[in-house]
Amino acid sequence: MKIFFTAIFQIISRISPYSSDCDISAGTTLQAEWAFIQRVMVDSEENFRPLREAINESFIPNLFAAPISEYETNLVCRPSRFGGLGINDPVKTAAWNFDISKKAASVLSAAITEGCELDLDQHEQSVSNARREKKNFDSFWELDTVDLLKHFPPDQKRCISRKIDFKCSGWLSAIPIQGNHFEMSPDEFRDSIALRYGRVPVDLPSHCDADNETFDVTHALNCARGGLVYARHNELCDLNCSLLEFAGLKHIISEPIVKDDDEGILRADWGVRGFWEPQKQALFDGCILNADSPSLIKSSLESIFNQRKEKKNKTYSDAAKARRATFSPIIATCDAVFDKEAEQYFKRLATHLAVKWQSNFSYTLGFVRARMQMCVLRSVSLCLRGNRTKWRGAGVEDGAALPSFNFDI
Ligand SMILES: [Zn+2]
Repeated sequence: MKIFFTAIFQIISRISPYSSDCDISAGTTLQAEWAFIQRVMVDSEENFRPLREAINESFIPNLFAAPISEYETNLVCRPSRFGGLGINDPVKTAAWNFDISKKAASVLSAAITEGCELDLDQHEQSVSNARREKKNFDSFWELDTVDLLKHFPPDQKRCISRKIDFKCSGWLSAIPIQGNHFEMSPDEFRDSIALRYGRVPVDLPSHCDADNETFDVTHALNCARGGLVYARHNELCDLNCSLLEFAGLKHIISEPIVKDDDEGILRADWGVRGFWEPQKQALFDGCILNADSPSLIKSSLESIFNQRKEKKNKTYSDAAKARRATFSPIIATCDAVFDKEAEQYFKRLATHLAVKWQSNFSYTLGFVRARMQMCVLRSVSLCLRGNRTKWRGAGVEDGAALPSFNFDI
């Protein structure tokens, strides 16, 4: 037993602060291992104190590549749907895990110790009762999170609350395996968790390389120079076209023309046939906005989303109707919080994909949500770290354009 604790402690401690090779999935596996110990060992809280210390003082600062406050550490160490990163506080969970496990195994352990016959129905009943009881922890986390958020400054609280209210944590549950498009570079991951908690990402340049303005998060997310904001939008469109193609749908068009008249050409972002209704063209236009920009900071996220949707509907709805097509706006924030109408779109897309892949609907929906969130977070990280200056080309297209040289000098 002692060897186990020492091993966990050493693994967690070995991750030196601010290194670039942190891997949260390794932490997930370790958590399952210590949860097993907690289930079978009574009063193990004290044994887990050094582990909690290592998590708080080494592992979490390493994930953020910066020191973080006690309140933030507390927030991080809870399930992701309550604003955490899914890192369990091993001291807090020790007694819970033991009690639940004891209740779940009560019929089985009685059968073994008393040597009587095992009633499988009763055993299954006790397991499902224990599972139900485990869900009661949710009400603990809910109240605890509300209390904890009172200690955060208003802007940070607003930022964190929207992740909880709009359920924006699916990307944290995806296991990042190379090649499944859920792997992130250390910078991408750290930028994403910084934005999740309303923190300033680390090591940002002091000035914009395109216009020499002071480079803060707002500038990074709003500065259109260098095409990074445009690329952020395009990446979402490309991902959607790709997923619709996987779903086996037809007539997928990137930037379809919705209207072409004297006023000019109006294009949506992507279109597909048979998405909502058979044979009917569905048009979509996406928008990724910075909900923390100074002009929006006073508005609720719901009203920001409604304003944007109204604007998009005003632009596209009549033109789409004239083409016998439907129109849906897909709105998200730069920290990957999607509007509730986008959620309807995800559900429909997951239905098509689940049929095509013969997969479970809930699982597929989880994949779609996480993939969309990851797409936004990656492209936003590019806005924070990417280059906005133009690269100089060779200057000549072929030999005929070669400038003359005076080699005699
Ligand atoms: Zn700029």
